[in-house]
Amino acid sequence: MAYVALYRQWRPKSFSDLVGQEHVSQTLAQAIETGRVGHAYLFSGPRGTGKTSTAKILAKALNCEAGPTPEPCGVCESCRRVNEGTSLDVFEIDAASNRGIDEIRELRETIQFAPVNGRYKVYIIDEVHMLTAEAFNALLKTLEEPPAQVVFILATTEIHKVPATIQSRCQRYDFKRIAAEVIAARLRYVADQSDIAAEDAALSLIAQGAAGGLRDALSTLDQCAALAESVVTEQLVRDILGLVGREHIEKSLRAIAAGDAPAALSVVAEVVERGRDLRQLTVELIRELRAAMVYQAAGEAAGREMTSTSSEMLAEEAALFSPEAFAPMIGRLNEVLGELRWTTEPRIAVETAFLSLCRPVAAGLEKAAAETGTVGGPADEARLAHLEKQVAVLTAQLAARAAAVSSRPGAPAKRPLAGGRTVAAKSAPLAASSSRLAVTPEGQDLWQKLTESFQGDVKYKPLHSCLSGGKFGGMGDGVFQVLFSSPFLRTRLERDDYRQAIEARLAELSGQSWRFITAAGEKKLPDPPPPPPRRKDTGVKVDMASLPPEGRRSLEKAVEMFGDHFVPIEEAERQRAEAVAAAEKKTLSGAARRENHSAANRQNDVSVSAEDIDFPPLDDVPLPEDDDAPLPED
Ligand SMILES: [Zn+2]
Repeated sequence: MAYVALYRQWRPKSFSDLVGQEHVSQTLAQAIETGRVGHAYLFSGPRGTGKTSTAKILAKALNCEAGPTPEPCGVCESCRRVNEGTSLDVFEIDAASNRGIDEIRELRETIQFAPVNGRYKVYIIDEVHMLTAEAFNALLKTLEEPPAQVVFILATTEIHKVPATIQSRCQRYDFKRIAAEVIAARLRYVADQSDIAAEDAALSLIAQGAAGGLRDALSTLDQCAALAESVVTEQLVRDILGLVGREHIEKSLRAIAAGDAPAALSVVAEVVERGRDLRQLTVELIRELRAAMVYQAAGEAAGREMTSTSSEMLAEEAALFSPEAFAPMIGRLNEVLGELRWTTEPRIAVETAFLSLCRPVAAGLEKAAAETGTVGGPADEARLAHLEKQVAVLTAQLAARAAAVSSRPGAPAKRPLAGGRTVAAKSAPLAASSSRLAVTPEGQDLWQKLTESFQGDVKYKPLHSCLSGGKFGGMGDGVFQVLFSSPFLRTRLERDDYRQAIEARLAELSGQSWRFITAAGEKKLPDPPPPPPRRKDTGVKVDMASLPPEGRRSLEKAVEMFGDHFVPIEEAERQRAEAVAAAEKKTLSGAARRENHSAANRQNDVSVSAEDIDFPPLDDVPLPEDDDAPLPED
């Protein structure tokens, strides 16, 4: 005998066989018993939840020789013919392939004839939402004046596409997604009856993957049984469904809980190496966090509803996090799922999320400590040590990434070590790329949105101030350029974390990824009349007598303030560039110091303002005239 697929073999034969749709089967069975059968039914619900099976059971129940009965015998000629699809009174129409007016006209012509063998003529129209507007109109006329002894059963996965006029003429039944544990129990029954050896965890995993559809679950079990050597194992199911390994999920959770960024990143690397989908990793992590969260909140039974994870493991995972930690983590991972739809760099999106997940946990710990007032105890010291370690790791990573990024074309070059040679080299790639860049209205628009998007955001206050000092310089070939007349602002914005924040925001606003670059722009104000000493800048000696009276006065004032040491303008530029580099270095180490300091501070006081954490020290901000200083590239 030919092999019959499990889902066909185990198709429900009576209302009592219907799995997970008791609200539907009980009502229909009662209608048949009391003789109150409607003229039209509308079955809606996700695929594989039993709509067509129910329609066929209803058809058999109405026409069974022993009926009408909620328990059709399944052996009389009428029942057999329905099962085989050869009944002259039961018509199955697939609206996905017969969606036109002709089919419905034909239906209207034949509908007037009395049933051939049975009591009722039953029309089952599958995927009814696919019908054309004309076909719906023709169907509506039939539904308005249905001949006696005709029953319509319309089935759809997309109820919102079925016109309201049709819906209002039908008794509507909504088929639910079947709960994973109900599917798992059914799979266990089918496996036992079919002599398929299978691990419980494997069946549970299949059930979760079926998204509430029993038919899909049975198909997967079929496939797994065919490929299994002797027993359907959890690992086999993972392989067939392309799921991420259990160990990866556990490792991710532990790393995140411990704030162990390197371990979290290594999970991403391993998943990529094994050719698994990062989206899948994210989805499974969300499910696992959900399970741990629900376990913590509502106990074992609720927690295990949607997971194959063992109770012991779930208890362990739930203990890793505080109750308020779950929602932000799940929220962040859901964001990544959104990003993964359009990004060309899924790995970066997932890595960024993993790193950010490693940090808020630390913040949550501090908060808990502050709330309970248990400050200064040995536990706090341990936490503090842990936090300090994290800060050190993150700072090192940031530095490593900054170093890697600076070798990218178009990225900020290292500050010159000697002379102005490196400065010249820095502007070369920018000049090359600016030929491809165009200042378009869309670009202007995006630029405006970009600056506005950082406005009022306390975290990005310094970034926003810097950005506001720039001017849109064109975009093209995946590059978004902003011009700065102030080298200081430009240098600041080239900071790695700022650039990443800007690039992320650009992607968010435009739906595509951009590389953010900066270039020297024109000065905003018209040049003031050149000060007299500039005409003398080739020499180091200045002849005061040769100057016009006005220029002489200015110069005398300058000498009074700064002394009479004159240097050539190139030399002055070099010195200034060095000073900026030194200031930048100072800011970086200052920021690291402050971060350490503020981590310690927050331990005692959670009300430390964002300024204290993120902003550069005031003494690093140059005086306003810096904006008008000559540009090093000139
Ligand atoms: Zn029968």
